[in-house]
Amino acid sequence: MSPKTIHILGVTGSIGESTMDVVLHQPEMFDVCVVSAHNNVALLAERAISLHAKVAVIGDAALLPSLQKLLSGTPIEASSDLIGAIKAHRADMTMSAITGMAGLEPLLAAIEVSASVAIANKEPLVAAGAQVLQAAQDSGCQILPVDSEHNAIYQVFDGAQKQAIEHIVLTASGGAFRDWTIDQMATAKKEQALKHPNWSMGQKITIDSASMMNKALEIIEAAVLFGLRADQIQVLIHPQSIVHGMVAYQDGSVLCQMGASDMRTPIANILAGGARLKTPGEKLSLEAMSHMNFTPVDYQKYPAVQLAYDALAMGQYAQVALNAANEVAVQAFLEDEIGFLDIVKVNQAVMAKAPPSHLSNVSEIIAYDKARRAEAKAYIDKDLAW
Ligand code: NAD
Ligand code: MG
Repeated sequence: MSPKTIHILGVTGSIGESTMDVVLHQPEMFDVCVVSAHNNVALLAERAISLHAKVAVIGDAALLPSLQKLLSGTPIEASSDLIGAIKAHRADMTMSAITGMAGLEPLLAAIEVSASVAIANKEPLVAAGAQVLQAAQDSGCQILPVDSEHNAIYQVFDGAQKQAIEHIVLTASGGAFRDWTIDQMATAKKEQALKHPNWSMGQKITIDSASMMNKALEIIEAAVLFGLRADQIQVLIHPQSIVHGMVAYQDGSVLCQMGASDMRTPIANILAGGARLKTPGEKLSLEAMSHMNFTPVDYQKYPAVQLAYDALAMGQYAQVALNAANEVAVQAFLEDEIGFLDIVKVNQAVMAKAPPSHLSNVSEIIAYDKARRAEAKAYIDKDLAW
């Protein structure tokens, strides 16, 4: 079998690193072409060299000369034009692992020219799901879920019998504060929110896990990816993070996927097109597993989860607003401008104020997203008042 040509967008991140591990475990299966990063130029060069990539792209154009210097003497081309690099190189698969809405335009470029796109970057699906799916349909690109819960569901989702599916379950670890009271959460510092009990991930998603905004984004992501109604998507707290997702069928069968808390498993599943690759990842030890439990979400403690159902009921404009506000609020929390519980307050306020609009294309979504970000910033600057 000839190697699969792949692009890795966001190669310096946590998903980027896990993808690199899977690829380097079976290097003969993959031919890495474009790799990208935002501003960590040294790590980008290091990973581009380890992966024998063809093109390395740095988002911050001011860093291009240092990337060129780091790659001099190698055959790797240095660039600061990600969209151009993606469009110039057809790929069998693109790993979309940039964080936030910054990944939307690269994702759409990849959909145009790649046979398939593996999506870890959930924010563009939340804000522009319909447009992403339409673009994939137009170009014949396959969209494949990498997010652990969605990958789990994908593995046990019988699309040919979709009408027999009653509901799906996304599991949630409960994040850094699962054993904290609401009063304790009110005083939480970023160092505490960044300590995820089960998973090692980028900063933004780790904060989102602590507030459960991550699960809120994932509810919308699941509605988009699997074409389900909001009432078919259930969330259960499962502190052990062993079962990642479940599908409940009308005959009473519930199928699930289990695995260690290691993103290399879902990444390997997608990179191999469903074949079972060897991974260097952690393996689940069932005999060491004393118990598993599943409990409903406490909406007092995690109001973020309700915001996802509200946004789905309100429509796409609310999904764009929710995601935009959250990106701004998480950044403000990381910069010590607001408290931990304020993140969800900002999201709630910006979504409630968002003017109902019909967003028919990507430029309208980007403009609407920008306006909501400005509102979120203004709300934060006025100490959470309009
Ligand atoms: P990360 O912060 O570790 O890495 C982000 C990557 O995106 C880096 O390579 C960075 O250089 C790049 N990037 C950031 N801003 C950019 C910009 N403006 N332009 C271009 N590139 C930019 O994040 P991560 O944890 O790897 O997560 C990436 C995405 O995958 C997120 O959307 C996250 O929600 C999703 N995801 C992550 C995990 C996980 O285990 N880490 C699991 C499921 C889903
Ligand atoms: Mg997830």
